[in-house]
Amino acid sequence: MIGIVGGTFDPVHFGHLRPALEITQALALDELRFIPSATPPHRWQPEASSQQRLEMVQLAIQDAPQFVLDDREYHREGASYTVDTLQSIRDEVDETTPLCMLLGMDAFKSFTQWHQWQKILTLCHIVISSRPNYDDSPIESWMQSHHCDDSALLSQSPAGKLYFCDVTQLDISATNIRKNLKKGGSSRYLTTKSVTDYIQKNTLYKA
Ligand code: ATP
Repeated sequence: MIGIVGGTFDPVHFGHLRPALEITQALALDELRFIPSATPPHRWQPEASSQQRLEMVQLAIQDAPQFVLDDREYHREGASYTVDTLQSIRDEVDETTPLCMLLGMDAFKSFTQWHQWQKILTLCHIVISSRPNYDDSPIESWMQSHHCDDSALLSQSPAGKLYFCDVTQLDISATNIRKNLKKGGSSRYLTTKSVTDYIQKNTLYKA
């Protein structure tokens, strides 16, 4: 099974990394691809450049054998729609290979506003992780037919299931890290030392 985690990673932090590791282990993923979004369609543009965000993710994941940096959105023109990213991965792997897209609960809450969200469910499973300050989403009717309680079922089909996964709750966000840095603070112990050093060296997120 291949896992996929997209995000702006502006910067990547332990709230991304620890849940990603726990889900990789819980689902026995063969690999987890981190895909920084070059031009996110649903939000303001990132402060660090695409190149810098890619480099920070590479530094953060270098010691985790199953974590891989995937820079395909960086090489694509226009808005980074998840459906296009998933389709391009699907075109490269065997049609029976299960793909699991990891989403935090905050991101999942707006999922039905995403471009071609129904098609996304034909391309991958979605694994939703709990996140501090985001209550569980009510199970809406469209979710009923996709919902699955048993993670073992994810490996038995290539796409189409929703699985909710409890992870260690870390109340860390990139927004708060950027705010803290603008006030002269540091990202120490909120992300890896390698990323903290990179932020300092490149004087990122200054007021
Ligand atoms: P920002 O504060 O800039 O919006 P963020 O910290 O939410 O950024 P993103 O890069 O937007 O990070 O998130 C990528 C993915 O990681 C999303 O699916 C998001 O829900 C998830 N995620 C981010 N932070 C956490 C966290 N602390 N716990 C669990 N999931 C998280």
